[in-house]
Amino acid sequence: MIEFAEARALVLAAAKALPAETVPLARALGRTLARDVKAREAVPPFAKATMDGYAVRAADTLAAPAAALAVVDDLPAGRLSRRALGPGQAARIMTGAPLPRGADAVVMAEDAERSEGGVLVRRAVRPGDNIGLAGEDLKRGETAVDRGAVIGPAEIGMLAAANLRRVPVVRRPRVAVIATGDEVVEAGGRKRRGQIRNANGPALTAMAVRAGAEARYLGIARDRPAALAAKLARARGYDAVVLSGGVSVGDHDLVKEELPAAGVEPVFWRVRIKPGKPVFFGRRGRQLVFGLPGNPASALVTFLLFVEPALAAMLGRPGPAPATVTAVLAEDITVKDDRTQFLRGVVVEPGPVLRVAPYGDQRSGVLRSMVRSRVLIVVPGGARRVEAGREVETIFLDGR
Ligand code: AMP
Ligand code: MG
Repeated sequence: MIEFAEARALVLAAAKALPAETVPLARALGRTLARDVKAREAVPPFAKATMDGYAVRAADTLAAPAAALAVVDDLPAGRLSRRALGPGQAARIMTGAPLPRGADAVVMAEDAERSEGGVLVRRAVRPGDNIGLAGEDLKRGETAVDRGAVIGPAEIGMLAAANLRRVPVVRRPRVAVIATGDEVVEAGGRKRRGQIRNANGPALTAMAVRAGAEARYLGIARDRPAALAAKLARARGYDAVVLSGGVSVGDHDLVKEELPAAGVEPVFWRVRIKPGKPVFFGRRGRQLVFGLPGNPASALVTFLLFVEPALAAMLGRPGPAPATVTAVLAEDITVKDDRTQFLRGVVVEPGPVLRVAPYGDQRSGVLRSMVRSRVLIVVPGGARRVEAGREVETIFLDGR
């Protein structure tokens, strides 16, 4: 049995970054950028008005509230002015229109009064007021979005503004998910007495998708060597395989024997954590193989602790994953053994100081604890008691 930190280091050492591929920007949501992407154009491409009003030479407005200027041009967005502003001149200008040469500020429409052939400026402006400069958001050639960033709506907008139509992203890790157990049947299928519904197959597949993988659910392997061997054969070629169940010391727990028989080289089995002690990790060539416990809460927690960081590393996302956030404990915690505990916890107060408390029922078969909780509260191995008011590290269950 090894410690959590050692187990995680072994997983991370085995997880290698995947190659890049190019996708249209419209398909890039949620993907991870493979390289720094540089702006092909300056954003904005020219100096522009950021308010509707009058483009002016700021020095001409010092006589406000009675600065009279001649209006010599009318500039809607999209039109380039052909004439430069001379002293005493202004141009009607709309938000987004290029600033005419000679102008260095815009007087807001609300601070100006149209008069015969001109405009009265009621409030003086300084150079730079109400204008945006060329390249102030992004210079041409400057990095628009960094490698390792997960592409969200803002990144898509920025990349489009910088004139990128296709972007280099890391190939999604391909993950095969296998449930095991003679007692497990799919939702919707016929269930005999003594059988239960398959929670882990769908839940672990969803975890993989949320983590940025292309997940394929391969169904339930019965607790017979041939059944498991057949599923493992189908899982060849995937970057990772995630199995649930059968990793304990029960009579029908086959995973840790059958995995080596299928060519999986064990790296570790059993980690000093709670929940999730019987977790297995091994390699089959470049493929990473995770045997997670069958209890649904343990399966989800060990996915978060071991599979998620491996997928993040394959995607080239900057670590560490999952990120921890410091919180203050709202209730005393008493622990019965020396393993590192990952207690499912609720947020008692979201801020200004994050306050958390353990969820009432910590049994690893209780899936409701995962639905109701928002964090895992980390209690380091050996700490038998942590008092209310102490700082603790937490991991958000939503994987952010
Ligand atoms: P195991 O790790 O196979 O010994 O399973 C531990 C517990 O988790 C048992 O109560 C199983 O019935 C339950 N279990 C195993 N696989 C699943 C699954 N896919 N969905 C829900 N519960 C499961
Ligand atoms: Mg089982």
